[in-house]
Amino acid sequence: MRIILLGPPGAGKGTQSKRLVERHGVVQLSTGDMLRAAVAAGTPIGLEAKDIMARGQLVPDAIVVAIVADRIEEADCARGFILDGFPRTVAQAEALDAMLREKKLALDVVIELKVDEAALLARVEKRIAESGGEARADDNAEALAKRLEVYRSQTAPLVEYYARTGQLVSIDGMQPIEAVAAEIDKVIKASAEA
Ligand code: AMP
Repeated sequence: MRIILLGPPGAGKGTQSKRLVERHGVVQLSTGDMLRAAVAAGTPIGLEAKDIMARGQLVPDAIVVAIVADRIEEADCARGFILDGFPRTVAQAEALDAMLREKKLALDVVIELKVDEAALLARVEKRIAESGGEARADDNAEALAKRLEVYRSQTAPLVEYYARTGQLVSIDGMQPIEAVAAEIDKVIKASAEA
């Protein structure tokens, strides 16, 4: 199973990915988590990414593409993976296509979680409140506004990109978590039978 979860910050990609990991035994590949780990470890990539991430901007394509290329070579990805937060630009999507083509692999489906922006703000505020002071550096009103703007300008074009390849399925991400999860399961089942 190879899936992309697409959607703006706070759409529920992380929550749904973790559930898929538990149910299907696949790996969650979150470039945000990988970059945060690099920042915490103080690696050269982490040092380069730290301020960019705190501002809510995108880390350069070459860096994230290289991280993903290395990660999908690892043995635990053989059973499949969920891409959460990657690709985020058309250039990243093209690099992913090339990577998969070279490995003679294909994506099963690209699932877009559609949500409205007012709800996103409320969700991220809730995440901050629940973090007990350990909020992500980019979970604040200013960075969130930037992340949404970046999503609209750089990532939303991927909806069109994957609609053209016929791989896109859009789901209403405003439903309760369990209802979204049930729809995702249905989409995955249908793609496996196709
Ligand atoms: P996320 O946890 O997916 O919301 O990502 C947090 C931050 O990490 C983003 O706002 C970006 O600064 C950076 N980031 C994560 N994934 C990517 C990506 N695919 N391309 C560029 N920057 C990324």
